[in-house]
Amino acid sequence: MTATITESEIVVLGAGMVGAATALELQRRGREVTLLDRKAPGEETSYGNAGVIEGGPYVPLAFPRDPRDILRFATNRQPALHFHWRFLPWIAPWLSALSRNSSEARLRENGAAVHSLTTHAPQLHEGLLDEAGRSDLLRKTGWLQLYRSEAAFAADGLKRHIADETGCAYSVLDPDAASELEPHLSPAFHKAVYWPSIWSVADPGAATKAVAELFAGQGGRFARMEVVAVEPVTGGWRVKTGQAEIAARHVVIALGPWSMDLLRPLGYRFPLAVKRGYHLHFRGKGNATLSRPVVDLANGYVITPMAQGIRLTTGVEFADRDAPATPVQIARAEKAARGLFPLEAPVDPEPWMGRRPCLPDSRPIIGPAPRHDGLWLNFGHAHLGFTLGPVSARLLAEMMNGGTPIADPTPFAATRF
Ligand SMILES: Cc1cc2nc3c(=O)[nH]c(=O)nc-3n(C[C@H](O)[C@H](O)[C@H](O)COP(=O)(O)OP(=O)(O)OC[C@H]3O[C@@H](n4cnc5c(N)ncnc54)[C@H](O)[C@@H]3O)c2cc1C
Repeated sequence: MTATITESEIVVLGAGMVGAATALELQRRGREVTLLDRKAPGEETSYGNAGVIEGGPYVPLAFPRDPRDILRFATNRQPALHFHWRFLPWIAPWLSALSRNSSEARLRENGAAVHSLTTHAPQLHEGLLDEAGRSDLLRKTGWLQLYRSEAAFAADGLKRHIADETGCAYSVLDPDAASELEPHLSPAFHKAVYWPSIWSVADPGAATKAVAELFAGQGGRFARMEVVAVEPVTGGWRVKTGQAEIAARHVVIALGPWSMDLLRPLGYRFPLAVKRGYHLHFRGKGNATLSRPVVDLANGYVITPMAQGIRLTTGVEFADRDAPATPVQIARAEKAARGLFPLEAPVDPEPWMGRRPCLPDSRPIIGPAPRHDGLWLNFGHAHLGFTLGPVSARLLAEMMNGGTPIADPTPFAATRF
């Protein structure tokens, strides 16, 4: 029986980077906020990512246009992309929507919307980490993108074009020049692009916990509860959990890849898919060190120095969100990574698996739910949810509280679906 009924003006559901930062921004504005999660803060997707804070222009991942790429991916043997064959009929409509969003014009438009948020991300992260006394987590060392051939470098020019148009700095480096930044990288690549405006953290889970602690330090309440339903009632909402029912005037859905679990029963059908991804930590061999995230674009993985070791994160896996882990990409990426950087044996017994919450236009949903008063949405941050958490939190809090928004909220409206 759920006899205890608690009240809170606002209940934020989900204590990943998005929900924890949203709760903090609302609490700062004098609202009474309760943050709920079935786990401790920052223990799901916001824990296991590559910790990259994108500060420059953004070009979303596109559906491949070149038939040779499509054939290559169709073999299902590439490190960058893996899929469960039986899941293809389920994901086909979403892939078709992604394909419609993959023309250069759409990539530019969607990327510009996301860039209106990423442009604020490094400073907001820095401010939060300073305030939390965890500036030790932040690295302003940029990131390196590696290309294995001139053709691959030439084919991936859109981000550089947009950077030229918007005045964002980057440098194109040969392996010798790149080795001045990362002396232990082997010259197994053709060219690198160095982006100084992209920062990173040494432990995204710890950064998320730091934000949740700031929230609690300002009087916010965090409770560990499994939320089973949200129901509209006169004057607000009833949040049903395994342990309690909480009456709220406003509810914020910030459940990342689990957001539709509570929205579907309310009649919403947003096209949220998950792109699963894995990570594994390694020690560097001998005195080998890494100072920044490095992405091997041909193989879709990132290696990045973390508190737990050198974290190797994989590309995309299309599979049912809740299907058992199939970390075949880790072994493939590890093979490629060992040719690039001297890695020891893995530190973890098993790869970690996470789920990027993705909408086909690569823009999150931030704002009011279209058909319910007092229901607010903040999810679907895809490959950039760690980056965007503090910015989309600020934007949603400004929408809920009034005041000049940090960015134009129009591109993120739920009504676009
Ligand atoms: C391999 C990988 C690498 C990535 N690299 C980067 C990167 O370098 N930079 C970047 O910006 N982004 C990156 N991302 C994406 C980023 O991690 C996500 O977009 C982001 O973490 C999503 O945050 P969130 O708060 O929306 O979701 P989450 O962090 O998943 O939080 C959702 C929370 O909801 C809780 N929850 C769910 N259901 C319930 C329920 N019923 N009751 C109670 N609680 C519930 C969960 O426990 C969880 O804590 C990466 C993702 C992956 C998988």
